[in-house]
Amino acid sequence: MSSLAIVHSRAQVGIQALPVTIEVHLTNGLPRLSIVGLPEAAVKESQDRVRSALLNSQFEFPLQRITINLAPADLPKEGGRFDLAIAIGILAASRQIVADELSQYEFIGELALNGELRPVRGVLPMAMEARNVNRQVVVPSDNASEASMVNGVSVLPIKHLLDICGHLHGSGLITPFVVKEEVKPDLANTIHIADLSDVRGQHHAKRALEVTAAGGHNLLMLGPPGTGKTMLASRMAGILPPMIESEALATATIASIAIGGFDVETWGIRPFRSPHHTASGVALVGGGSHPRPGEISLAHNGILFLDELPEFDKRVLEVLREPLESGHIVISRAAQQAEFPANFQLVAAMNPCPCGYLGDPSNRCSCSPQQVSRYRAKISGPLLDRIDIHIEVPNLPRTELRNDQERESSAKVRKRVIKARELQLQRADKPNNLLGNREIEKYCHLTDADEHLLDTAIEQLGLSARAWYRILKVARTIADLAGSETIQTSHLTESITYRRLERKNI
Ligand SMILES: [Zn+2]
Repeated sequence: MSSLAIVHSRAQVGIQALPVTIEVHLTNGLPRLSIVGLPEAAVKESQDRVRSALLNSQFEFPLQRITINLAPADLPKEGGRFDLAIAIGILAASRQIVADELSQYEFIGELALNGELRPVRGVLPMAMEARNVNRQVVVPSDNASEASMVNGVSVLPIKHLLDICGHLHGSGLITPFVVKEEVKPDLANTIHIADLSDVRGQHHAKRALEVTAAGGHNLLMLGPPGTGKTMLASRMAGILPPMIESEALATATIASIAIGGFDVETWGIRPFRSPHHTASGVALVGGGSHPRPGEISLAHNGILFLDELPEFDKRVLEVLREPLESGHIVISRAAQQAEFPANFQLVAAMNPCPCGYLGDPSNRCSCSPQQVSRYRAKISGPLLDRIDIHIEVPNLPRTELRNDQERESSAKVRKRVIKARELQLQRADKPNNLLGNREIEKYCHLTDADEHLLDTAIEQLGLSARAWYRILKVARTIADLAGSETIQTSHLTESITYRRLERKNI
């Protein structure tokens, strides 16, 4: 006598959840279990867990020849997540549970030896795909709220293998998990983000932050330690437009497959990631034997803040150029290739010199001109070129800080940013930062006089030819913030001041 059962699950490849079918075939012969399609080490562990979980749940472990095939064979398959599907397959093939409706479900979860379910990573993308093919998802209860972030998916949460067996048998139906409206945070949620009104003074920097947010630009802040560069950067997420649902899903999906996992409370909040300059290349851009997203992908649709930019490994900084242009990163390993989205806004900060006090009224700086230029040369021209806005964040006199009483809230600034961004989307269907050179020529028209002004500025300040396009894009954003259809002279001159670091004579 032989019998066959087929169970559906999904493997994790990059941010994709690709379909895997688990075929369990029982035949007469010497009792023996073999699993095809899993790496050898994973097979042994999974086999032991499934056997114990079945026996400890008072099921029989079939004394037959059991062949389990996880197809397709060429997908990378990390252990644990297929335990539940394998156990269900064995139970169905040995007729210990009813198997008629198995094709309506997708199963995921790691088994403990006693039959309880342990949470796994990447449940969100799996739930999304299952919904698209109209299947219910059976997940460990600890993963239920994550899975239910996907609209329209039916999530069956289970704590123990016996829960789902009762459900399939019709003796103990599981109520689909529904995230309560008050638990699923609003997409416009900014409660957890620090407010811009906390920052005293630095009006020039706040203005630059607003322009950066409005046009989706990148920003570099130059200034001595303790002037509030980090404080400013961490408030950026709170002035960006709210995420739309597809953005929230994409950001949550990356968190879902990353080491830290996805926290439901962060739903709809633009991420703010600030890796330390000692972070490894893999931590920053992603990688590993089963490639995982790095900080630049965890910052997808949000902010990547790199403090003390010249202290980062130069090779790692160079890798940033690709995602800054394309919005994604491709990670190649011998065995496989993974692509992760990485559409972040870069906010970077650096000291003006190695000691940090160049240009400070206190005259504390003792760096030689060579030391200063070597320090700045750590940021390559091509990287600098991808940062549209450069500003100084100087030390301010105490009186100026004390007298700064009327400070705008993030909510107020955000309203202007949203308006400016809407104009951009109506015009070109993208934020100004993503305009190509042809689009810039089309949408960023200058009067003859202003064109002459820009030519002169580029020549006198010693800016690169590419700076021409950068300046026009930022000028377009400044005009959008002013609600102006055309770029005025004042918009252009403000934009020129934001190329500070590119000048030959800093
Ligand atoms: Zn110095």
